[in-house]
Amino acid sequence: MISQRCPKCRSSRIRKGYKPTPLILRLVGIHYLLCNHCNLLFTGFAVPGTVNRPSKKGAKKARV
Ligand SMILES: [Zn+2]
Repeated sequence: MISQRCPKCRSSRIRKGYKPTPLILRLVGIHYLLCNHCNLLFTGFAVPGTVNRPSKKGAKKARV
């Protein structure tokens, strides 16, 4: 989960934003976040591993 609330409507229904976060922001733990309630796109801290990312299962080894 992302411990972040929408700055506009204070909803906690937050998901990862659709815009790719610049590397410089990701380095300090900031991601684009999107409010599911009012669709506000904003930046906020997201603890690594708490946002949606591709499944870890079976994706480790690439075939040669
Ligand atoms: Zn909102």
